[in-house]
Amino acid sequence: MISVTEAWQRLLVHAQSGPVQILALADALGAVLAADIISPFDSPDFDMSAMDGYAVRMHPMQENTFLVTGEIQAGDTGSYVLNPGEAVRIFTGGMVPATADAVVMQEWTTETNGSLMVKGEIVQGANIRRRGSQLGKGDIALSAGTEITAAGIGLLASLGQFSIPVFSRPSVSIITTGNELLQPGDTLVNGQIYDSNTPFLQAALQETGIRNISCFRATDQRTELDSALDIALELSDFLLITGGISVGKYDLVYDALNSRNIDIIFYKISQKPGKPILAGKLGEKWVFALPGNPASAGVCFYEYVYPVLRKYMGFSKPFLKRETAILSHMVKNKSGRAAFLRAAFSQGKVQIPAQQDSHILQSFAMANCLVYLPQDTELLQAGDKVEIHWLP
Ligand code: AMP
Ligand code: MG
Repeated sequence: MISVTEAWQRLLVHAQSGPVQILALADALGAVLAADIISPFDSPDFDMSAMDGYAVRMHPMQENTFLVTGEIQAGDTGSYVLNPGEAVRIFTGGMVPATADAVVMQEWTTETNGSLMVKGEIVQGANIRRRGSQLGKGDIALSAGTEITAAGIGLLASLGQFSIPVFSRPSVSIITTGNELLQPGDTLVNGQIYDSNTPFLQAALQETGIRNISCFRATDQRTELDSALDIALELSDFLLITGGISVGKYDLVYDALNSRNIDIIFYKISQKPGKPILAGKLGEKWVFALPGNPASAGVCFYEYVYPVLRKYMGFSKPFLKRETAILSHMVKNKSGRAAFLRAAFSQGKVQIPAQQDSHILQSFAMANCLVYLPQDTELLQAGDKVEIHWLP
């Protein structure tokens, strides 16, 4: 059995970014850029009015009345020449004539019969968004490794981009094992339970940005497990199995994986919850066997699967975001193993609910972080510092 930190290190040794793909900009939210995106032109690529008002060319004598000679709307493409003492009505986004000295806000003017009166001083260059003031042609608009946000999609669209190189998102299969599992909608008979791991993991994968997810169920029969493994390993880049990885007579997953020459990266971590977890590789494919207990499966997903998926998708910081927080009460860790506790951080303090058993999902559903207690931490008091891992 290895330590939590050893498990993280081994995963980092093996984790790699996946292939690069060209994705439609509209589908790229949350993806990571695989190359710099260069601005193909100056942005904006013409001097642009920042206001509704008048573009003016100064008089030699600095007078404040101007002859209005026309109108420029946003989108007008013609070029316009102003002589000294002339003004042109212009609207936000309109192309400012090269001969203009400034744009004067409408609010500072009165126009009567084609004659414009300007109140106050005219400042050279005022209210003109200069060509290239955002980006020059050839500048890096967004660099490789950047996660595409909604605003990023807007920026790249403004630069005329419609498809971009990103790290591809993996396909993932989930196999849940157990004779006892039914689906919500089925009628439970005593002794049976609803499968919560599939929907939990499916949602956690979606939250991670993964869309290509296939789900399979197997009873605790080797033949069923084997056929599910055959299909899932063929189909997906990542395979997540839940249940059947512990030491019970009907825990068949370890043997089933071992007989397929999976390279085991680790099996069992000194932690609570989630001790029986296996990570391995079959060629380029990743296999994680997660514990059946729902809270254990969830913790193992976020602490071990999530970072490998994120690495594949090109994120340079693959782990849950880590931070130090102040405990609002005492906490004990008597297990002799590291602990991941479902917890709620608010107003600078972290509160750990009492319900931490591995079958308990309610405290997980209410949590916004996991408190990580290293193996050698046995007792902490209110006010002590702990490491929290933000849930996505
Ligand atoms: P196992 O690791 O297969 O022995 O499962 C450990 C515990 O988790 C048992 O109580 C199982 O009934 C429960 N469990 C296993 N799989 C699921 C699942 N998909 N949804 C909810 N509970 C599960
Ligand atoms: Mg089972």
